[in-house]
Amino acid sequence: MGRYSAADIEKFSYCHLNWLLSLKNDEMNYEQKNGIAVHRDVEHKLQKIKKNEEDAILFEQLVAIYSLGAIILSVVGLLIFSITIKISLISYFLIVISLVWFLADSFLLYIYLKGDRKSGLAMLVFGLVASVFGLSGIFIFIRLGILFGKILTSIAIIWIIGAIMALYFYNYKNIKALTIRKKTDVVEGKIVYLDDMKSSELMVGKKYPVSGRPDYVVYNDNKYIPVEIKTGRTPRGPLYSHIAQLIVYCMLIEDIYNIKPDYGIIKYPEKSIPIQYTDAWRDRILQSVSTMDNIKKSGVTHRNHRNINKCRYCSRNSICPEKLI
Ligand code: SF4
Repeated sequence: MGRYSAADIEKFSYCHLNWLLSLKNDEMNYEQKNGIAVHRDVEHKLQKIKKNEEDAILFEQLVAIYSLGAIILSVVGLLIFSITIKISLISYFLIVISLVWFLADSFLLYIYLKGDRKSGLAMLVFGLVASVFGLSGIFIFIRLGILFGKILTSIAIIWIIGAIMALYFYNYKNIKALTIRKKTDVVEGKIVYLDDMKSSELMVGKKYPVSGRPDYVVYNDNKYIPVEIKTGRTPRGPLYSHIAQLIVYCMLIEDIYNIKPDYGIIKYPEKSIPIQYTDAWRDRILQSVSTMDNIKKSGVTHRNHRNINKCRYCSRNSICPEKLI
């Protein structure tokens, strides 16, 4: 069995003859060229979102490192002082409080490392508060004139400034990504695949004989969701050919990521339509692939519908010998 792209299967699902003609003459009409330009514009915005969100994660990690660093500096410093010199009751009190916050921060770090990104910010808050307590304790020692205390305090302050700056950039990148997301109406979730011809490779099925490039794929709630953007007029319901194309992307995700998506989304200019990925749909695509194989071998097929509107909006209308209009 040959391998067919999602674009091939879309054409075939629109009209068998359209697909066969496209193999011989694949010139694009105005609507297709315009559609590509709109796609490139959306991809550019998606690229910006992806980049800003990746940067935000990087700064979030820096926040985590800096906050933990500040807290360790403060606590270790206080502990050293507490065993080397006689300290006041208030310093003991500050040490105990900063130790409690340190434990809370360590727990948050554990959750953060397990993948809960929201705990990163909480870590910073805990880290900063603990550092403040720790620094207060160290300041007391500075007043006693201990050089090591001064050095430790300076490092801790620099460390905290680093944490605050990382937090600022984290927020800046996040807000930037969020603003573009709202304007572009991107499906919620982390963008893990983007058809920008740069960051993501062509998806090639291992067990299914299909390939393709979804416009983008988001990862949300442990699920992958392929999204296909359609330009031009918004139909009342999703077109069969568009559904077929989206189902191919669902098959590719199932094949490559080993997680079966529940659904994919077709985004028309005026509405987004979720399409359930079912075994029945997958079998229909495999059936189409087998028919395409036979047609390719024989080199012969005919119009398989009586829908005058299909011919009206067909990209092969000018060269089609069986057109209805
Ligand atoms: S013009 Fe009509 S029959 Fe011809 S390829 Fe297009 S949809 Fe099919």
